[in-house]
Amino acid sequence: MQHFRKIIKTNPKIKETSVIPNELNKAGISTLGNYLKENDMSGKTVGMRLELNVSFKVDENGGLVINDTKRIEKAWPDLKSALLSGANVAIMYHVEDKAKVNGSAFKDNSLIAEYLKKRIAQEIDSDLVFDRVEELKFVGSEAKEKLAALKQGKINVLLMQNVRLDEQDRKMEKKNDPALVSPLGEVFDAYVDCGTGLMHRNAASNNAIKGIMKSQGKAVIAGDLFVKDTSDLQKLINGFKSNPDKSVAILGGSKISNSYDEKGKVVEEGKIVILQSMLDLGIRNILIGGKMADPFMVAKGESIGAGRANEEDIKLAKEILVTAKEKGINIVLPVDFRTVHVDDMDGDLFKGVKTDFEIIQETTVSDGREKLDIGPETEKLFAKIINESEYRVFNGPMGVFENPKLAEGTLALATVFNEINHGFGILGGGDTNTALKKVMKSDTEHSKMLAGGGAPLTFISRAGNLETINLMRRD
Ligand code: ADP
Ligand code: MG
Repeated sequence: MQHFRKIIKTNPKIKETSVIPNELNKAGISTLGNYLKENDMSGKTVGMRLELNVSFKVDENGGLVINDTKRIEKAWPDLKSALLSGANVAIMYHVEDKAKVNGSAFKDNSLIAEYLKKRIAQEIDSDLVFDRVEELKFVGSEAKEKLAALKQGKINVLLMQNVRLDEQDRKMEKKNDPALVSPLGEVFDAYVDCGTGLMHRNAASNNAIKGIMKSQGKAVIAGDLFVKDTSDLQKLINGFKSNPDKSVAILGGSKISNSYDEKGKVVEEGKIVILQSMLDLGIRNILIGGKMADPFMVAKGESIGAGRANEEDIKLAKEILVTAKEKGINIVLPVDFRTVHVDDMDGDLFKGVKTDFEIIQETTVSDGREKLDIGPETEKLFAKIINESEYRVFNGPMGVFENPKLAEGTLALATVFNEINHGFGILGGGDTNTALKKVMKSDTEHSKMLAGGGAPLTFISRAGNLETINLMRRD
């Protein structure tokens, strides 16, 4: 039985100036808004890879609480468009298995299922049949059975299992193994990629699946969120090119080194390598804080006290400093720090539980101490450069912001981004967003938070070339 659904297009308007839809079109990829306008979707089955990697906790009644629903809010318009088109929709997603519930790994997808089910009921006001896959496997026997029911229209919305939950699934997902997703090629008439935060990664549920769909002559579609985010990133990159003197990148955090697989192949680029490829974009000022400052300080012969930087990062930092000098780029390092003695440091620092440690402000990091936040003079220096800029990218906290005593530097910059009233900036990163949201309750016209961190940064470092990202890459 086909359920009646109103055919209303709810897609947010994509800016007229964006070249992304055209570029995608040339590669045979429609945008979701256009595809739904041009195709009768009633009774069709659509698979959507959404970005629902939200953080959550357990409340006092043992119920699950989503800490920040922003990613769901951003994913929602694409999902809503697909649901209203009359298609039957399978939702694919991941939440990180680092999430713990009562001390053990999260092995349930009822949290997001309940949330989505309620939203669908409220916002679409229909009798859509919702179901979810409870078993651990992403495309195990239960999933296959329910996907068949979806195709027959017995189920209208199916929430599939967290693709990273089962250990074997997770490995296949990360290795981009087509075997994980091949059964889906039989079921889906179209596949929609809505995860901008995943665009730099080749995983089975967002890359191998595209090959499977294309080999069967089926549609691969870019979600409108994808188009919006990449269009904003291109706007920023164009700004860097047209106004280099008023461009700034602020980089911090701790994911600074490359990560390698057993064979020595780079699995994920660290921020230093990404920064190296950003030097050609025209950005005049690069402000560096957080742990990211360590290799640069060592490269310049400055003390990092009890801190450590690895040799490869120091070598890259030296190369970057030389290139920057040749190109007239200002690499600005912190001029003062909030430091903690190693004897006072334990895991509690991050949780903000321990209260009796001493933080001092110093311009040179003393022996035995670690710099865990930028100092007040650096806050002022960075704020001034940011305020004088028109195009800005910010990724990575300035300190161990998880502890409120070490969050001041990061929050000072968050305040600058929240209040700035000219130009355009993209902010992002899983941890950066967590820190920012203490100050910024929503995006402003001039500062926009993207869901992912590595993805937008990588896209920027590739000068916004769509062919370098997962959706268009031919592998
Ligand atoms: P994002 O998730 O925004 O991309 P990262 O994952 O690279 O950022 O880094 C975030 C982490 O960096 C946070 O957990 C924070 O505590 C840590 N961090 C920031 N500054 C420092 C520092 N000076 N020393 C140690 N850790 C730091
Ligand atoms: Mg992080």
